[in-house]
Amino acid sequence: MKELVDRMPNKLQRLPELAYNVWWSWNAEARDIFRRLDYPLWRRTQHNPVRVLRLVSDQTLQARAQDAAFLRRYNKVMMDYDRAMESGHSWFHVTYPHLTRKTIAYFSFEFGLHSSLPIYSGGLGILAGDHAKEASDLGLPFVGIGFLYPQGYFRQHVPSHGWQEAVYEPIDYNNVPVLPVRDSAGREMRIDVPIDSRVVHARIWRVQVGRAPLFLMDTDVPENEPWDRELSARLYSGDNEMRIRQEIMLGVGGVRLLHLLGYDPAVLHMNEGHSAFLLLEMIRRHVSEGLSFDEAVERTKSQTIFTTHTPVPAGHDAFPFHLMDKYFYGYWGQLGISRERFLALGRHEESWGEAFNMTVLALRLAGQYNGVSKLHGEVSRQMWQRVWPELAESEVPITSITNGIHVPSWTAGEMRYIFNKYLGADWEEHHDDPVLWERLAEVPDEELWRVHMTLKAKLMNFLRARARRSWVDGLCDPTEVLVGGTLLDPDALTIGFARRFATYKRASLLFTDMDRLQNILLNMHRPVQVIFAGKAHPADEPGKQLIQQVYTMAKANQFGGRVAFVEDYDMHSARYFKQGVDVWLNTPRRPREASGTSGMKASLNGIPNLSILDGWWVEGYNGANGWSIEEQPFASAEEQDYNDAQALYRILEEEVVPLYYTQDRDGVPRGWVEVMREAVRSNAWRFSTRRMVKEYTTELYLKAMSGDPVVEPA
Ligand SMILES: *Cc1c(COP(=O)(O)O)cnc(C)c1O
Repeated sequence: MKELVDRMPNKLQRLPELAYNVWWSWNAEARDIFRRLDYPLWRRTQHNPVRVLRLVSDQTLQARAQDAAFLRRYNKVMMDYDRAMESGHSWFHVTYPHLTRKTIAYFSFEFGLHSSLPIYSGGLGILAGDHAKEASDLGLPFVGIGFLYPQGYFRQHVPSHGWQEAVYEPIDYNNVPVLPVRDSAGREMRIDVPIDSRVVHARIWRVQVGRAPLFLMDTDVPENEPWDRELSARLYSGDNEMRIRQEIMLGVGGVRLLHLLGYDPAVLHMNEGHSAFLLLEMIRRHVSEGLSFDEAVERTKSQTIFTTHTPVPAGHDAFPFHLMDKYFYGYWGQLGISRERFLALGRHEESWGEAFNMTVLALRLAGQYNGVSKLHGEVSRQMWQRVWPELAESEVPITSITNGIHVPSWTAGEMRYIFNKYLGADWEEHHDDPVLWERLAEVPDEELWRVHMTLKAKLMNFLRARARRSWVDGLCDPTEVLVGGTLLDPDALTIGFARRFATYKRASLLFTDMDRLQNILLNMHRPVQVIFAGKAHPADEPGKQLIQQVYTMAKANQFGGRVAFVEDYDMHSARYFKQGVDVWLNTPRRPREASGTSGMKASLNGIPNLSILDGWWVEGYNGANGWSIEEQPFASAEEQDYNDAQALYRILEEEVVPLYYTQDRDGVPRGWVEVMREAVRSNAWRFSTRRMVKEYTTELYLKAMSGDPVVEPA
């Protein structure tokens, strides 16, 4: 970063500091500085401030340093930034001043902060990123722990045959907002973790998320054996053995990293079971300080929180005992227990035999547990009741805290304009207050509709510009240009479906009855179109088949280009989809969707959901803010699919399409706009990370931080 600072004109000295704090990712005015600095570069780098600063010419820098209007904006942003970095006025500091010196450490395999830092794959990671951003906004003493994967997560290319290809691009550390952590002598710091018979070293990178630091481990250092250097190469790739090594690094290494940097966390929060080995490391530390195993377990319980994320049994990591033996052979002695007792901590019957299950480990050794929606809480209590054989299902101590989204990150610029105007300039400060959103009643229909149509036009332009770029670059054949959405109609009712292609999400449900769908899409007076996007895990063959199936539909003449599949779904394109379509479609096989968050992002921007009544939508749907496909009795998965598809067609034909096309003489669909308004009003505050992180704090963190039963401050 120093070389960057050195080449800045005096008046713009702090631009690199701004670029190296991803606070810009949720501050529109800060992003605007980089956009105005060099607009073509801003676009070319896909909105990457660090890269913009690396590439911008001295001439341009000098010109901006003389530009009074630019300097005014810059100075204003730096003032806002400085204020945002002080925590004295934050919610946590004002409410819990006696707890501000404690540390909450949050462990996650992935963090989705911005598309320029590809260390996330989907919902789980974006939740972690949003959690960190909100923790910063609320002033929590928060530290994140994860990995910097030198090859990131893959970029998706789908050639005209429809079979997804995974492209890995090495991260250029100069182009991402990460800096190595150094000791007082200026040397890069390392943590050392014994894994198998060797010691594996990891470099520590720091990402600044507003006020909160995020520390990322990376084993690609010359001191390591080649196999160990690969350990953190990519997110979610490799076999079970690679996975156990990564999880040891995250859990055991993460705890060591915290102590090395001088943190003594009061709370350790596990986002999914990947980091659950941290429980063993905490116990080992307590035992080495003189506690018995049982005392060490009690101590560890008082400090730890586990959030489970999946109601799909196969989605919980489990390792065969021979791998546990190989990697923990030297460990159970240090805990003061036998191999049998050690393995019992995670013992669980998997579909393929007995194994060591990370969720079971977390449920046995962590102190507090939660699912991520009310329904998911119920399902989790049922799924894991056997861990508490003495308790009735309703008494299983897994609670729930429903997910949310980081509102400043996911609000469209144009919607922000409406919110500023009608909710008051300080709406962001208290956006989890339901009363605030009642003021939306004052927004004229015409204005809300106009803003929506602007966002829709932006989405269409984005898709066309993308298709045109690959066409010009000669990287694709005409089929891909067509499938990418070039025949989409900016006025037609547009349905969006974008998420990971996992089979339970049933991306192809809409294609159950092709003739019926054709009638809906190609209606002369009331045309409908559907945009799909999403990646399948590279090892998920059925997921890739689903993509191919949807791709084939997008190619089919039968649908006349009214079905599109847009490749390489990420946080960048996600923004356009969740701001620019008319309806957000979600068709999971109930109750597999633990929460889902993309529908929350859509709702926030006035896009109503049409969804199976599952996950968050069970709590979000109120009869007036979207549409719901309710459960009917079924005897088999096929019958469930069939019922849901019939209900989906019926709702489209009888409710969604007629309401959208009932427009008055000036082209405003009044009834539809009411649903849009209600979507924002009822969902925006409730499904925010502001509400969510406050709940984590009052319901879980405080108890761990005080060590006593929680007493609410007056
Ligand atoms: C929000 C988001 C997700 C999660 O979507 P779900 O509906 O929860 O599956 C996945 N990927 C991206 C890029 C997102 O922005």
